[in-house]
Amino acid sequence: MTAWTRRHCVCTEVRNLDYEEAAAALKIKVDWLRDNIGKLPHIKFGQQPAVFCHCDLRLILAMHTAMPAQALEVLNAPAEEAAPTPAETSTVRSLATSRPAKGRARRAVAQT
Ligand SMILES: [Zn+2]
Repeated sequence: MTAWTRRHCVCTEVRNLDYEEAAAALKIKVDWLRDNIGKLPHIKFGQQPAVFCHCDLRLILAMHTAMPAQALEVLNAPAEEAAPTPAETSTVRSLATSRPAKGRARRAVAQT
């Protein structure tokens, strides 16, 4: 296994899951994981049973996501239709015109 095969992994610490833990996290039967291990991202140390990091699980989720055409249309819609932005604008305006806080709250605001 070369390093480039783990490029989907963004783990900063090792917190691998065994078959049972991975199946529990995915809410699937452990037998399905075992039966399909050859087609799934996983980590293998010689003869040890395979283990999974959470990035492996995310990739497995992506591989098995069912996306109906109508859902894909919504996802691919222009940004203005899919995610209107007025809320963002009004939030900025309300922060700009808001009155300064007093006491401890004021110091907390100043630090951010
Ligand atoms: Zn990872």
